[in-house]
Amino acid sequence: MAYAMVAEEPGKSNVFKKVSIEVPKPKKGEVLIRQTAIGVNFIDVYQRSGLYPAPGGYPAILGNEGAGVVQATGAGVTGFRPGDRVAYTMPGGAYATHRVIAADKVVKIPNAVSDEDAAASMLKGLTAQYLIHDCYKAKAGETVLFHAAAGGVGLIAGQWLKAKGVTAIGTAGGKEKCALARRHGYAKCIDYTKQDFVEEMRKITKGNGVPAVYDSVGKTTYPGSLKCLQKFGMFVSFGQSSGMIEDFKLADLSANGSLFCTRPTLFHFIAERKELERRARMLFKAIASGEVKIMVNQTFALDKVKQAHDALEGRKTTGQTVLKVE
Ligand code: NDP
Repeated sequence: MAYAMVAEEPGKSNVFKKVSIEVPKPKKGEVLIRQTAIGVNFIDVYQRSGLYPAPGGYPAILGNEGAGVVQATGAGVTGFRPGDRVAYTMPGGAYATHRVIAADKVVKIPNAVSDEDAAASMLKGLTAQYLIHDCYKAKAGETVLFHAAAGGVGLIAGQWLKAKGVTAIGTAGGKEKCALARRHGYAKCIDYTKQDFVEEMRKITKGNGVPAVYDSVGKTTYPGSLKCLQKFGMFVSFGQSSGMIEDFKLADLSANGSLFCTRPTLFHFIAERKELERRARMLFKAIASGEVKIMVNQTFALDKVKQAHDALEGRKTTGQTVLKVE
């Protein structure tokens, strides 16, 4: 049966309802994908709760990354044909057995990469890719701080930073998460639920601070993150898993050392087709070579998306979370 998990309205995880759907027909420029695996992301939580509006409003089929097999192509599609294994991130609409999507948002999955890994990494992996290669380009020999190191983006970033010769210091909630982060590229990991990470960073860097902090936690880490930076350092604020930063002042940047600050979003880094292809090529190469291992540590059936959201929101997950479509 073809079905979608529909968020009827913004709210808690119980807003999801299993709804039968007609297998959609691809229009001009679109492909129809029979999905095999769907990545779950924190942005899905924001869109479900209403912190970010669901594009197109509610009821909404959420979900922003997935993989599967092309079943049909619409008029004018030249790069794909039925049977191709493909993956995508954005636009939403992933929580379904089948979906149509513009062909220019889709990339082919190389043989060396599984559907599950592709589905788990198109959003999280491309985010790690642009953060560390473009947004603040971390250089070999540098030390940087990356919050939520044991999470989906965090575990990918740690391995990639290490491969680039960068010393990554992570933060994570709890001893086990810290140990996991250390096994995935982080030279050190601070348990920020128990330790004062600013104080620990001072000790680790001998008071020098770091040139960049990648912060997706937001509200609870933001003031401390600024204190971990060197003069002219870069505060990369790319998420708010603990809540929105509400009290940011430009003066905070001067007070903490003439800092720079950016609030990037993946969307802008892959808006052009050639940028999507280039970044996806880099990501798949890193996965295929073993430089970056995708750690799908939680899988759920598509119709158990509520449980997947509960786990992610409840800080119960590590690495990547995937919904499987049987
Ligand atoms: P994660 O797997 O990293 O999950 C979020 C983690 O944040 C949790 O596991 C938890 O780790 C930590 N956290 C700290 N405080 C809280 C809290 N109060 N509630 C819940 N979690 C908390 O998620 P993703 O990998 O999907 O995404 C990571 C972040 O990156 C998100 O904030 C997301 O919005 C952002 N993002 C931004 C993008 C962009 O382009 N700007 C693109 C993709 C993701 P711990 O227990 O170790 O603290």
